[in-house]
Amino acid sequence: MIYTMLLFKRVEDLQNHIQQLKDKGHTIGFAPTMGALHSGHLSLIQLSKTQTDYTVCSIFVNPTQFNEQSDLDKYPRTIGADIDLLTSVDNDILFLPAVEEIYPSNTTIRSDFDFGQLEEVMEGAFRPGHFKGMAQVVNRLLEIVQPDKLFMGQKDFQQLTIVRDMLKQTGMKTELVMCPIIREDDGLAKSSRNVRLLPDIRKRAIILSQTLQEAKSKLSAIAIETIEQQAMEALSLPHFKPEYFSIVDGITLQAVENEADHTFIVACTAVWAGDVRLIDNMILKNELADVN
Ligand code: AMP
Repeated sequence: MIYTMLLFKRVEDLQNHIQQLKDKGHTIGFAPTMGALHSGHLSLIQLSKTQTDYTVCSIFVNPTQFNEQSDLDKYPRTIGADIDLLTSVDNDILFLPAVEEIYPSNTTIRSDFDFGQLEEVMEGAFRPGHFKGMAQVVNRLLEIVQPDKLFMGQKDFQQLTIVRDMLKQTGMKTELVMCPIIREDDGLAKSSRNVRLLPDIRKRAIILSQTLQEAKSKLSAIAIETIEQQAMEALSLPHFKPEYFSIVDGITLQAVENEADHTFIVACTAVWAGDVRLIDNMILKNELADVN
């Protein structure tokens, strides 16, 4: 049987269709993306399909979360291949809005979220304004789709933490589901940006996952600060420039000083590999019943 995926470009059409599904008692899962899809994105759709009746995937390269115009311009756009991939996993609905649909000129879209310390550290420190833009678009998309469950990747750990906080702030009923990081065979986390890595740099980019793994094995044996320092050194290969390697509390994103004081600990890193900025993270300790 050939699977039929519905494609909506207009907010109103999408909302009418979703309302019809909800009126029939169906549940909705939602996975927002910026396209250039790979198996990491598809894992979100696949999980959503096991937990909800209908899955909506959005593809929207959000201009308000890019700090540099050049990064936005260089962001890969592969819509034909994306549609094939979404169909291959039986995604139900694709929402593919133009910028004017998300940010209509006659309407003010909320962007005044304050996430305090959550948006000041790590990515927030190196990409000022990024999370305000991300929260703005995720909130807008959630208001449009009104899903029962929102599927987001652990790959963007700080983003997911901030969205959790945003859901609390807005009081939205949507349940956030954290999906595990999908990696290449050698350990490199899948990313739309990986295609831009030069071959030699691509080979050596395994250093990110190796260093995270190393940190995990050292967690209870060595001082946290020393683990972070050693990691920064290990990541400083020729043509590689680590921005941070931070071991943080997985909920507050505060620096961890003493491992024993925390139940959920995550190591997060961002590294320039040539002219491509890669991020990765690993859960070092998780004694929480439910992260979400
Ligand atoms: P993006 O298109 O990069 O904005 O990502 C859309 C969603 O896919 C986000 O929730 C990401 O965290 C998730 N994602 C991206 N890469 C991966 C990966 N390698 N494994 C799991 N989820 C991912």
